[in-house]
Amino acid sequence: MTEPRRHYFMGKSIDLPSTLTEAQLDGRACVRCGDEHSVKRPVEAWSEQSAQLFECVDVGACADRVSRL
Ligand SMILES: [Zn+2]
Repeated sequence: MTEPRRHYFMGKSIDLPSTLTEAQLDGRACVRCGDEHSVKRPVEAWSEQSAQLFECVDVGACADRVSRL
């Protein structure tokens, strides 16, 4: 099976925070909460248009950190 080229992401508006830190752009920190120590997974839609970005695997803990930002 060949990997489909999903360029249709490009025309789509993606909810990417406008104020990413250097650590977030480097993939060291979660793009949502900014935590550098949590277990993370790639954010596929966002990596289409930028560098590889990551978010917390534990979305509950992530959302809790975001609410305290
Ligand atoms: Zn997070």
